[in-house]
Amino acid sequence: MDVKTWKSDAVTIEVDYDKCTGHAMCVDQCPGEVYELTGGKAVAAYIDQCIECCTCVAVCPEEAIVHSSCD
Ligand code: SF4
Ligand code: SF4
Repeated sequence: MDVKTWKSDAVTIEVDYDKCTGHAMCVDQCPGEVYELTGGKAVAAYIDQCIECCTCVAVCPEEAIVHSSCD
């Protein structure tokens, strides 16, 4: 398992790099522009901008994202 974790005061985001295929649905559709792509994987570089909308979890076809505010 290669799971990366990012934390802010409000939320925790995990991305499973074994599942992430890097096609950037999360990067394109996150309204907070939280994600960027580095080395072909999603990075929650701007987690402080998260508005807890759960779009990233919904749009990731690989189910690679786990978000503390989203079931
Ligand atoms: S949508 Fe999912 S698979 Fe695609 S880059 Fe984001 S985390 Fe990776
Ligand atoms: S929950 Fe919404 S704002 Fe937060 S990282 Fe996911 S898509 Fe972006």
